[in-house]
Amino acid sequence: LEDGVLPLNTPWGQVNLCGLREYRTAEECAAALAAAGALAAALAFVVVVPRLAGDEIVMLDVGQGDAFVVRSGGAAVLVDTGNQERLLREALARHAVFRLDAVVVTHGDDDHMGALASLKGVVQVDRVLVAADALACSCDACARLRGDAATLVGEGAVQGLAQGDGLRVGAFDLEVVWPARFADEGGNADSLCLLARAGADGDGAPDWTALFAGDAEHEQLAALEGQGLVGRVDVLKVGHHGSKNALMPELAAALSPRIALVSVGAGNRYGHPADKTLRELADAGAQVWRTDEAGDVSCKSTAQGIAVAALR
Ligand SMILES: [Zn+2]
Ligand SMILES: [Zn+2]
Repeated sequence: LEDGVLPLNTPWGQVNLCGLREYRTAEECAAALAAAGALAAALAFVVVVPRLAGDEIVMLDVGQGDAFVVRSGGAAVLVDTGNQERLLREALARHAVFRLDAVVVTHGDDDHMGALASLKGVVQVDRVLVAADALACSCDACARLRGDAATLVGEGAVQGLAQGDGLRVGAFDLEVVWPARFADEGGNADSLCLLARAGADGDGAPDWTALFAGDAEHEQLAALEGQGLVGRVDVLKVGHHGSKNALMPELAAALSPRIALVSVGAGNRYGHPADKTLRELADAGAQVWRTDEAGDVSCKSTAQGIAVAALR
């Protein structure tokens, strides 16, 4: 076992003991742990993984909205942009993201794509990927999404993704698992959902999985689970900012994430995340990380498991 990694009760699922904030040195971390009490001190031995090493999923703190970076081996993809342009710009800069192979937009709601066009001139973006049905949908939100995407990368670089399509991002394979087709004009229920698999130990086999659920809720995710397209995952990007219908107890148990990521603005008017959903996640054994409390949250693969680090 390397310094800084705390074993959990799974074969490889391990979480940085200093997850509540990122400590610059082992001494700083150990001191904080000692201050946190005898139990923590008894578990303390910590080193920070270098920021640019390893395969990583970062939940960016963009207030009420979603923006996630998936990166590995020099490749990087942004999943959603939030709608606060300055917050997105600053978050990308904090993580030294200057180039994106693609921006994937899960759906046309403003809190997922509002800052898309503002990336022009800020970050080099090769492509914008949306649900295939969004390319033809006649609703206003999909039209705006297509327009902003074309503003950013040009019409020819706006491409559709359909269920079963895959994206390779370094060591990550991202599989499009939802939607099969639009049932809601590209609304929450039609959110593009991605299942990410990554190898951590270099043997070529996937060692950890993450599900990005956009604003999809339990009905969509239960359908996916029922079709065998998703099962247990290590990291769950909780759907719809942890709304009260994001999960149900059976679904939470079926997914049983070790780490649950919830992107929410402090004091948001929707009451996200719902206590009910937080309880379901806790009951399923998940550690919940939320941007309103922790700021940016990074999940990074190590040979021993997933190290979680938060900005605050
Ligand atoms: Zn639409
Ligand atoms: Zn949303």
